[in-house]
Amino acid sequence: MKPIQQLFPALRHPRRVVITMHQKPDPDAMGSSLGLARFLKKLDHQVTVISPTNYPDFLNWMPGCSDVIDYESDKSRADAILDDAEWLFCLDFNALYRTKSMEPKLQGLQAEKILIDHHEEPQTWVFDYGISVIPKSSTSELVYEFIRDSGHAELFDEGISQCLYAGVMSDTGSFRFPVTSASVHAMVSDLMKTGFDHSLVHEYIYDSYLENRLRFLGHLLSNRMEVYYEYNTAVIWITKADLQRFNVKTGDTEGVANYPLSIKGIRFAALLIDREEERRWSFRSKGSFDCNGFARKHFEGGGHHNAAGGKSKQTVEDNIKRFKQTLSEYQDVLTKNNHND
Ligand code: MN
Repeated sequence: MKPIQQLFPALRHPRRVVITMHQKPDPDAMGSSLGLARFLKKLDHQVTVISPTNYPDFLNWMPGCSDVIDYESDKSRADAILDDAEWLFCLDFNALYRTKSMEPKLQGLQAEKILIDHHEEPQTWVFDYGISVIPKSSTSELVYEFIRDSGHAELFDEGISQCLYAGVMSDTGSFRFPVTSASVHAMVSDLMKTGFDHSLVHEYIYDSYLENRLRFLGHLLSNRMEVYYEYNTAVIWITKADLQRFNVKTGDTEGVANYPLSIKGIRFAALLIDREEERRWSFRSKGSFDCNGFARKHFEGGGHHNAAGGKSKQTVEDNIKRFKQTLSEYQDVLTKNNHND
């Protein structure tokens, strides 16, 4: 993978470009993609954004979102555009399998592949150009730097700012996680010069759920959460029946994994969802507990130090049992008295 800076001179020569992101995109995946798309269009590139799957309704407000192609529902059109592409930007994921059913298509593609990402252990050999900075707050911050460092800072506008702000806001837990570096605040300060309404972005992302989602959350917190104080850990599980009863849609489970971390003393939180084909885990931690290592070792997953995902074919019951048993291996790191955490 060559450094992405080597691509800068070529940005002035319009190409056919596809931008894609990980399946079930979150605000960072979608925000960074749509921000980059808007920037490249301003340089006269022909740009299509393809999402591997559908995405939550609370992202529909993003400028350019209505033109995003959902690969699963529009495969033949997406395949034709992919075949024709000269550049494929891959945003906010580290390995092609994260694009789910798009993976085989991407593997055989002629286009030059360009990675912009902040997840651990990227498949660098898959990409022609790229940048992967693990300690970065978000892919949106990397896209901000890509635009700035390529010498096109004058092209930042309200639309790009809204998209990138949504991504960095979401990946930093509204600017509170330790990844919220000085460079994040400097970026926000810079984007605010375009005059975009940051309060509105918070409202779009956090205050746009339907009543059923709040009642669903209440149900989970009352009936589906166990707290293991001996490990400073809590787990929430969601059954198929729960998903049906509350008519849960894509995006409704976003953020649920973080709730147990608001209990005093809890440093590790896990969420298990009984999806169609498998059980999916989300892991969140505060401080020194390494979610990425935990997910890789025990639940076929990975991600970041304080946030990772995993999966399992076992039943919900067996997963919860195994999760609890596994915790004993980590008693030291979960309970040591580290005030710097
Ligand atoms: Mn991200």
